[in-house]
Amino acid sequence: EKKAGLNFVQQLVADDLKAGKNGGRLNTRFPPEPNGYLHIGHAKAICMDFGVAEMFGGTTNLRFDDTNPVKEDTEYEQAIMRDIHWLGYDWGDRLYYASDYFPKLFDFAIDLIKRGLAYVDDQSAEQIAAQKGTPTTPGQNSPYRDRTPEENLDLFLRMNKGEFPEGSRVLRAKIDMASDNMHFRDPIMYRIILKPHWRTGDKWKVYPMYDFAHGQSDYFEGVTHSICTLEFVPHRPLYDYFVRLLAGDTVDQYCPRQIEFNRLNLTYTVMSKRKLRQLVEEHTVSGWDDPRMPTLCGLRRRGYTPQSIKNFINDIGYTKYEALNDISLLEHAIRDDLNRNATRVCAVLNPVKVVITNYPDDKVELLDMDNNPEQENAGTHKMPFSRELYIERDDFMENPPKKFFRLTPGKEVRLKGGYIIMCTGCTKDAQGNVTEIQCTYDPDTLSGMPGANRKVKGTLHWVSARHCHDAEVRLYDRLFAVENPSAETERDFRELLNPDSLKVIDNAKVEPWLADNAKVEDKFQFQRIGYFCVDPDSTPEKLVFNRTIGLKDSWAK
Ligand code: ATP
Ligand code: MG
Ligand code: MG
Repeated sequence: EKKAGLNFVQQLVADDLKAGKNGGRLNTRFPPEPNGYLHIGHAKAICMDFGVAEMFGGTTNLRFDDTNPVKEDTEYEQAIMRDIHWLGYDWGDRLYYASDYFPKLFDFAIDLIKRGLAYVDDQSAEQIAAQKGTPTTPGQNSPYRDRTPEENLDLFLRMNKGEFPEGSRVLRAKIDMASDNMHFRDPIMYRIILKPHWRTGDKWKVYPMYDFAHGQSDYFEGVTHSICTLEFVPHRPLYDYFVRLLAGDTVDQYCPRQIEFNRLNLTYTVMSKRKLRQLVEEHTVSGWDDPRMPTLCGLRRRGYTPQSIKNFINDIGYTKYEALNDISLLEHAIRDDLNRNATRVCAVLNPVKVVITNYPDDKVELLDMDNNPEQENAGTHKMPFSRELYIERDDFMENPPKKFFRLTPGKEVRLKGGYIIMCTGCTKDAQGNVTEIQCTYDPDTLSGMPGANRKVKGTLHWVSARHCHDAEVRLYDRLFAVENPSAETERDFRELLNPDSLKVIDNAKVEPWLADNAKVEDKFQFQRIGYFCVDPDSTPEKLVFNRTIGLKDSWAK
């Protein structure tokens, strides 16, 4: 029975539940390896794993897939937990570590050795690879394939005592070197790694491979649906093989199943942990949380909200086909969210002074500024108006072309939330740069006054020169200049970076209300400019803002 509105994974789960499989239980898991920070691709998996459990009243395990001591660390473990919580998901007390299953996996391996289903191979990785064959030609049996169970057991136990160097021996499953599925050609179960593990120390000298750990970990935890990405499709028969050996006669009562969906790939970025780590280690970016990174901590610092990420993931959907997802869809999702939710403020990024010559020098008015016209009850905040203001340098031209509806001598514009002003002239330095613009204001034109509805073509944002605060503004853009950096074969990915992905403005002028009200991670619309959020580098003296995204898609063709 096909239910409307379900994606294919949700439909499979619904069917299994309806058929009463696994006693009608639903238990998913999210299995990150603690060897890097989570990125938006992981968010797609998290939304699926936790989302489908929420939908059908199931549970979700967080399992650290920590079976390789070489690159793993507790720094990553902590960051991963923080980022999952930020997305709005919680595993409760269902926190697990694959390393906790090392003893059970070891026992299972010994069992397979005793049953003649596993053997120790003394060949190098290269020799083993050379014997694998091709998808259309069978592989060759290893000369060590027919060792007795006694000999295999003795060698495996000594491998784990540290008697042999790394790379000298592996434990392999004895399956079929002529199988159509390459993963059945005597896959490696264990290799020797002498580096201590961040959780189990130097207890183990052999570590299980992914294929010998993942399905069994699912089984030990009672996971019913093990949802992963498409590259694991060819691994699925091996997953089933080991899980069935483990379950034996009880397979009809409980057996986990693997389901695969397409990865999230984004244009104008890279998602490989190896490449992201390289950008961090070579200081191309300021860290894993650099606002240009596709990591969740980077997106958070950039000003993305969890809801915008979920909306984007929902829009692109889950399919059985690999795709490259357009980053402008992600940008659209955050622009849409911030348009509805970000407070409107005034900031001038490239200031030039305006003097209102008919406004008294000692007078200050506090004008009411709308917080958010998209929301009925968003209210207002006060912004001071005085004789000297800053506007954007670009909003003035002494000799403008036709259709320039901003400030120019002899013409009027409205100041956002304030008066209509008329330009009467400007002052320039020896190089011809404008240093000051003179205007008069029309006192009748404030909102609620008789002249308030008089039509003028342009509206400018502004701040009061005496009251505004200096701010640093970081203008971020896409990290790469090419659409699909991972597809480039001719050039190293670091040659494809966008040279304009960051511009820093250190003397922007922002309205004073922000100094008292803006907290780290708060999000604002700078009127007429774009969406910005407060960076943790901010100090009580100087706010730092990151541009999340412009008001319009500047990359649209
Ligand atoms: P690497 O291959 O660099 O080690 P990984 O992406 O496999 O990294 P894991 O920590 O193993 O990292 O990933 C945890 C889970 O997130 C896995 O189930 C994986 O399938 C899923 N995942 C990773 N990248 C993506 C992606 N781009 N789209 C969807 N799911 C992803
Ligand atoms: Mg992985
Ligand atoms: Mg991987």
